[in-house]
Amino acid sequence: MKYDYLIVGAGLFGAAFAERAKSHGKYVLVLDKRPHIAGNVYTEKIEGINVHKYGAHIFHTNNKAVWEYVQRFAAFNRFTNSPVANFKGELYSLPFNMYTFNKMWGVVTPEEAKAKIKEQRKEIAGEPENLEQQAISLVGRDIYEKLIKGYTEKQWGRDCSQLPAFIIKRLPVRFTYDNNYFDALFQGIPIGGYTKMVGKMLQGIEVRLGVDYLQKREEYDALADRVIFTGAVDAYFGFCYGNLEYRSLRFEHELLDIPNFQGNAVVNYTDRETPWTRIVEHKWFQFGKDENGNDLPKTVISREYSSEWQLGDEPYYPVNDEKNTALYEKYKQLADKESKVIFGGRLGMYKYYDMDQVIAAALEMSNKCLSEDC
Ligand code: UDP
Repeated sequence: MKYDYLIVGAGLFGAAFAERAKSHGKYVLVLDKRPHIAGNVYTEKIEGINVHKYGAHIFHTNNKAVWEYVQRFAAFNRFTNSPVANFKGELYSLPFNMYTFNKMWGVVTPEEAKAKIKEQRKEIAGEPENLEQQAISLVGRDIYEKLIKGYTEKQWGRDCSQLPAFIIKRLPVRFTYDNNYFDALFQGIPIGGYTKMVGKMLQGIEVRLGVDYLQKREEYDALADRVIFTGAVDAYFGFCYGNLEYRSLRFEHELLDIPNFQGNAVVNYTDRETPWTRIVEHKWFQFGKDENGNDLPKTVISREYSSEWQLGDEPYYPVNDEKNTALYEKYKQLADKESKVIFGGRLGMYKYYDMDQVIAAALEMSNKCLSEDC
């Protein structure tokens, strides 16, 4: 065999696994069907702005080992995500915190905010069973109606009562005046963009782009002892049990000849009527400056639209509801039987992973694999 590992997918899982394997002296070949590396964290430089072509990615983690690992491939800036919610022209701070409660109800102290939520959550008796109940129980009906319901139904294409509660638990609820969207000790954006960072991870590793592994499986399988597959697990098995559901995204990127469109990196449109879920203004991920500290005169914005995934679309979010979780279990059983193949990443493991969790999983998997010499 020519290679120890064939890695399908040059996103974060594939790149981290490849990097670890190479550092252990293994021969690695990485394939990706797209014409570029970095998967969905891919950034492209336009007018000095690193544009997140597949949606905003803000690196954040509580995992020190992962944070130290990524620092090896990029210097990170001090960007802290604090999106703004726009509900029919009313602006609210996110995540749900004292600024949000103050704007919504005029309350000033944490005690007043808690009392307001306590009163509104009375309508939920017992353990929340779905996203709607979970949201009302966390922040009350007013916030649910204005900042959660419309956005969530646009993003997931499903009623909030049909969605799992855990999705809304991703967001912190804080009784402090703190607009930091993430509960993470470490946060930032790689200076120079994610593509540059992933490029560094893949340095010295053979990468073939524009190759659809599933179309040429036998040819490529013959080249390596082991396959790391980071594409969609149902596609790998030819959708034999039917397809898993995903949400897909569409972006409208626009270069504007003005210096400042919305004054913030991310603005969420939380009403049901606005067709996009959010608008990202990429230059604010780098404080409006290029790598030499010069102000950027133009701006690039991206409107993000959510849609149900159909064959041929890019899958972005697994829909981890009951039906799909049960179906994934069936695919997982098949995956476990494939002794030569390891499935990884958001698509390979059908999990709503953040970037740091993807890297943690890749480090763990590669560690195990390389020490057992699998
Ligand atoms: N969410 C919401 N309103 C917002 C932002 C998020 O209701 O303004 C909910 C929505 O259900 C979403 C979930 O919180 O799916 C998780 O949001 P997050 O920002 O973590 O999603 P991602 O950035 O992964 O798309």
